[in-house]
Amino acid sequence: MFVFKFGGASVKNADAVKNIFTILQGYSENIVVVVSAMGKTTNALEKIIENFFIRKEKVLKEEFNQLKEYHYTILNGLFDDKDHEVFADIENVFEELAARLDTDPTLNYDFDYDQIIGFGEILSTKIISHYLQMSGLTSRWMDVRKVLKTDNNFREGRIDWDLSSKLVKEQFEFKKEQILVTQGFLASTINNLTVSLGREGSDYTAAILAHILKSKSVTIWKDVPGVLNADPKYFDDTVLIEKLSYLDAIELAYYGTSVIHPKTIKPLQNKNINLYVRS
Ligand code: ASP
Ligand code: MG
Repeated sequence: MFVFKFGGASVKNADAVKNIFTILQGYSENIVVVVSAMGKTTNALEKIIENFFIRKEKVLKEEFNQLKEYHYTILNGLFDDKDHEVFADIENVFEELAARLDTDPTLNYDFDYDQIIGFGEILSTKIISHYLQMSGLTSRWMDVRKVLKTDNNFREGRIDWDLSSKLVKEQFEFKKEQILVTQGFLASTINNLTVSLGREGSDYTAAILAHILKSKSVTIWKDVPGVLNADPKYFDDTVLIEKLSYLDAIELAYYGTSVIHPKTIKPLQNKNINLYVRS
């Protein structure tokens, strides 16, 4: 089996989601698909969290509506049948988010942050899982919070490897389906409170799952051609680096290249799992 990770830019609109289907269609292997929140959703949720915390009701309402509209634009671009169950499913998630925003904040910002930030990944994975299923791939939606367990260090959860390994192996089983779709960036405490793994943490999720499931490889799908020798936002004569050792990749990530999240390499290196960065 393989692990594929699709970041926010790879799921930012209906066409991007359709492209994921096109990519997956080319494979007959079992694949765990790890997905981030759509486009800039995590940034939008961070604003919502700030305004939730200081009780700016009016702005909060506007930001909530914008987030909802953004997701419904994507839904409408993907599903012609307006009776498709995805619509009720997504409506429920937004109702749950609205109910959460209606409660009073606690005195623990990081705790509240994690209880709200995770909605982005829940939305994206539900939409994508339904879309793949409708398009003819067999897929199952998995709640990663049921299997990845951390301590109570909200916003930067530390993985309990023993417990998580046991739970992932028990539950991430391919039965009739070829594809399991799950959230990057999220985990939970043993009391089932959502914990996030740090911004841009979805690559790390892909690596953790690959490590535990002994995946052949991890592929991070991006909107750049692969790992370049410089950031193409600032240089136009960049060169594609075909191959990197784990050590070089760790150094690059450590010194701030935005291609790979720094924590991603170690779980792969320990099991000799190849990491591909593809467009
Ligand atoms: N959605 C989260 C973020 O934007 C996690 C990720 O994209 O890796 O930080
Ligand atoms: Mg991202």
